[in-house]
Amino acid sequence: MTTSTFPNLLAPLDLGFTTLKNRVIMGSMHTGLEDRFYNYGKLAAFYRERARGGVGLIVTGGISPNRQGWLLPFGGTLNSWFDLPNHRRVTRAVHEEGGKILLQILHAGRYGYQPFVVSASAIRSPISRFKPKALDEAGIESTIRAYVRCARLAQKAGYDGVEIMASEGYLLNQFLCARANRRKDRWGGPIENRMRLAVEVVRRIRAAVGPDVILMVRHSVLDLVEGGNTWDEVVLVAKALEAAGATILNTGYGWHEARIPTIVTSVPRAAFAEVAGRLRREVGIPVVASNRINMPAEADAILARGDADLVSMARPFLADPDFVAKAASGRADQINTCIACNQACLDHTFANRRATCLVNPRACHETELVYRQATTARRVAVVGAGPAGLSAAAVAAERGHVVTLFDGLDRIGGQFNIAMRVPGKEEFAETIRYFGRRLALLGVEVRLNCWMTRDELLAQGFDDVVVATGIRTRTPGIPGIDHPKVLSYLDVLRDGRPVGRRVAIIGAGGIGFDMGEFLVHDPEVALPVPAAHWMQEWGVDPHVVAPGGLQAPVPPHPPRQVWLLQRKSTRPGAGLGKTSGWVHRATLVRNGVTMLAGVQYDRIDDAGLHITVGGEARLLEVDNIVICAGQESLADLMPAQEAGGGPRFYKIGGAALATELDAKRAIREGAELAARL
Ligand code: FAD
Ligand code: NAP
Ligand code: SF4
Repeated sequence: MTTSTFPNLLAPLDLGFTTLKNRVIMGSMHTGLEDRFYNYGKLAAFYRERARGGVGLIVTGGISPNRQGWLLPFGGTLNSWFDLPNHRRVTRAVHEEGGKILLQILHAGRYGYQPFVVSASAIRSPISRFKPKALDEAGIESTIRAYVRCARLAQKAGYDGVEIMASEGYLLNQFLCARANRRKDRWGGPIENRMRLAVEVVRRIRAAVGPDVILMVRHSVLDLVEGGNTWDEVVLVAKALEAAGATILNTGYGWHEARIPTIVTSVPRAAFAEVAGRLRREVGIPVVASNRINMPAEADAILARGDADLVSMARPFLADPDFVAKAASGRADQINTCIACNQACLDHTFANRRATCLVNPRACHETELVYRQATTARRVAVVGAGPAGLSAAAVAAERGHVVTLFDGLDRIGGQFNIAMRVPGKEEFAETIRYFGRRLALLGVEVRLNCWMTRDELLAQGFDDVVVATGIRTRTPGIPGIDHPKVLSYLDVLRDGRPVGRRVAIIGAGGIGFDMGEFLVHDPEVALPVPAAHWMQEWGVDPHVVAPGGLQAPVPPHPPRQVWLLQRKSTRPGAGLGKTSGWVHRATLVRNGVTMLAGVQYDRIDDAGLHITVGGEARLLEVDNIVICAGQESLADLMPAQEAGGGPRFYKIGGAALATELDAKRAIREGAELAARL
């Protein structure tokens, strides 16, 4: 692979007054660091690494122009001179590495999780606790002034410009769409009035900052909610924003309250790029494609097709700060790919925790999780090449230790080899590819088909043994559990055992839901699901004929009837990820899966699965019962107590604790342990 592999992505873009060194934008992400003044050193370190990695333009997380616009109480705000020193730390770090950075001005409007919320009209959003106050004429004027003040302060702080957030259902988007704007004055009614605030904000900022500042607007091209805009309205707004002084139009897809996913892993790669392409043909300024673009090949293809002038990727820069440098030097196969799981980034943000990344635990912890060269090289054995072991082996080798990685199977990846077989989780294969490549480059000796015993490990003279042997599946003690109808999730996903047309799944955790998706997937539909099919399935009209780009979803054709069961009385799926769980639930509901909570498993026999629910005995006449009832730690290699003089033993990942295990914890534990060895 050579540099010319991605000629479009790596080409500079001349904006007239300044030049971007390539077509890659690191999109805005709320990390949580921007909300506390004492975290700006960490924030600067985070952006510095990304600028050093060669990205053409960085956009900060959303910063509010005033208190009313806060997303969270005391969220990041830029409204006074006192804020400048912190922001200068950020811009200095980026500029020292040869990068460029915009401050995103985000007024949350009715999405603010705080009592001062305002909007176009006093209509609470379905995902908000607080009902907004409708801004009056004076309030609108002071809001515009706040935007202008924020942009001027950003300029003084050294930012190369600002991005105005006018999509994803935030304040300006609320004014733009009838869904949240029922005003009868000059700020509501026809689109010419509804767009007045966004256009006025851009016009007044441009007048205040002068011509040589990048003014990017994130414009909602697909609202994906009822009461959203039509394509004609989207284009009219885009042209007005261009005329008002925007330098670049970024594109946005879906309000936060939309019930159509736009970034989770089951959304096909680059699904929305064609919509950006249609906008690009309507305006004269550069247009940015965005959402679920995570590898340079897709990004370059978007540009080659003429669907955009630039490509924005956000989470891929949490996963790998060196994304661009690797793409540019023919090392795209070394990119640590964002698998769009949301588990450590958006799920953290929504839980008010600092964002990080499942596949890169250093993200947003650059000053805390540091891989220093070891003073003495130790001989380290890592047993188990699942996420925990891969992470430990890679970091230990990077630090200079001599590492041997063992796995009993014929491949690395552990349970990720099973996860990637679930429809919509194909991205998980990228993590295995990344680690495989990294281990090879670091010279880790990988010994497959080696089921290790403690004696074998002791005989080989290692200084340290990292036990990363994962889990064994839990078999519940239900009468008849040995019946031939019963399969484990490994039988189905790993070994491909046939499954009948009527199936009960015991256990509604993450794997139970994944099993449900596997069993209802229509075998006629290719994997990964093509974007056009995915749009029909979810009711997305990329031509945005109806308001918001909604159309009637095409009913699915599940090949099986499925029951998903749990003993708890809570709603099935309540424990899934905050920002992705609803997508899994919606998929199963659409495919007719029956979810039952508060189930008691009585027995399994030739007739099927006998259960009691709500005090009533029932028989599910199923062909198969698939067990997804969790796991228990597998750590037989750990010595009862360490013998003096032998290697030191450590356990990580599933081997350490199976409860609430996920790959985020497994990879982080591997990295943290190896950073200390
Ligand atoms: P494992 O991945 O289990 O790896 C352990 C390895 O040790 C195995 O390769 C095994 O062969 C090897 N081993 C065991 N004993 C020995 C021995 N004596 N000698 C040599 N080798 C040995 N997690 C998420 O975070 N997000 C998800 O979306 C997600 N989806 C999933 C979907 C499915 C269908 C499944 C099955 C899992 C999913 N997980 C998900 C869970 C995730 O894969 C696990 O949390 C993670 O793999 C645990 O990592 P680990 O390294 O501790 O163990
Ligand atoms: P899990 O989330 O712990 O779910 C186990 C399920 O089995 C629960 O529904 C539990 O519910 C049931 N169960 C437990 N003991 C049982 C018993 N003795 N008899 C019958 N049912 C029993 O585990 P998992 O689904 O196996 O997933 C493993 C890990 O992988 C999880 O921790 C998860 O984080 C991760 N994962 C994540 C995702 C994701 O999308 N983020 C996807 C897949 C996996 P009741 O006790 O109520 O019956
Ligand atoms: Fe991507 Fe998951 Fe990392 Fe978020 S946590 S950046 S979605 S890999």
